[in-house]
Amino acid sequence: MSSQLDRTRALLRKYDFKTKKKYGQNFLVDEGVLRSIVDDAGVTKEDHVLEIGPGIGSMTRLLCEAAGHLTAVEIDEKLIPILREEMKEYDNFTLVEGDVLETDLWEIARSQGGREMTVVANLPYYITTPILMELMQKDLPVRSITVMVQKEVAERMQASPGTKAYGALSLAVQYYAKPVIMEEVPPSCFLPQPKVSSTVIRLERHTEPPVQVQSEKLLFDLIRDSFNQRRKTLANGLGNAGRTGLTKDEIRECIQKIGEKENVRGEALSLEQFAALADAILDFQKKKGES
Ligand code: SAM
Repeated sequence: MSSQLDRTRALLRKYDFKTKKKYGQNFLVDEGVLRSIVDDAGVTKEDHVLEIGPGIGSMTRLLCEAAGHLTAVEIDEKLIPILREEMKEYDNFTLVEGDVLETDLWEIARSQGGREMTVVANLPYYITTPILMELMQKDLPVRSITVMVQKEVAERMQASPGTKAYGALSLAVQYYAKPVIMEEVPPSCFLPQPKVSSTVIRLERHTEPPVQVQSEKLLFDLIRDSFNQRRKTLANGLGNAGRTGLTKDEIRECIQKIGEKENVRGEALSLEQFAALADAILDFQKKKGES
């Protein structure tokens, strides 16, 4: 690790760069971990890789060597000239300056012929969930996502119904992909060191969603509303959110229709049951609209 740590320190000194907490800048300084993330992602010369938050480019270099093309999106304007200088020997590298949540990722995909992208990142922890939601819900041409996240977030992605870690993120991720935990990474592998342990997780996108549902939007609305009010029963949570246009009694009827008790909580429902509930609610809405 020391050589990558020395290289990072030397670069920070050379450019007089101070890491910023507000952008979640914990740079990876362990060569072995950097290499294994690139391996975990299974990057080949056929691939267009999207890296979110290249930092000072430690993983970016390795990705450029492994990939056909790499596009990196970095928000910190101070890192842009550093990356341009440090990456100038690579002609398969495109740098996009901006917030990944406001960047047109479809345009990035189109810039390389629209083929499916492989996303690889040591994500800034303050916006891990919004970034993953954006990637999954915009139905972007993405084949897989291999990311370093906070350990607890990785556990939430893999969690099963009825456990404490189970929630909207578990359901959204499992609808979209098969989450596979690759490795745990201690704080000592970063500069500066974060307070928490980290995990590399790979999301292999399903070719077909694991459950069929009439309205994906309604399914995701229900999931979000159910876990926004975690301590409430499902009927109260969905009723209070008011998005379905149904009364609490009507929602209870739908819940019973899928074979659950009317006072069930959202955290007890599997993805299949949420899909069945979304269909039951949609049917009720249609019936109500006709009468
Ligand atoms: N990839 C580098 C590494 O592994 O050493 C840096 C990882 S660091 C945890 C997160 C990076 O994401 C930083 O470079 C930070 O500036 C960048 N970042 C933070 N918020 C971002 C956003 N909204 N859009 C794009 N990049 C962002």
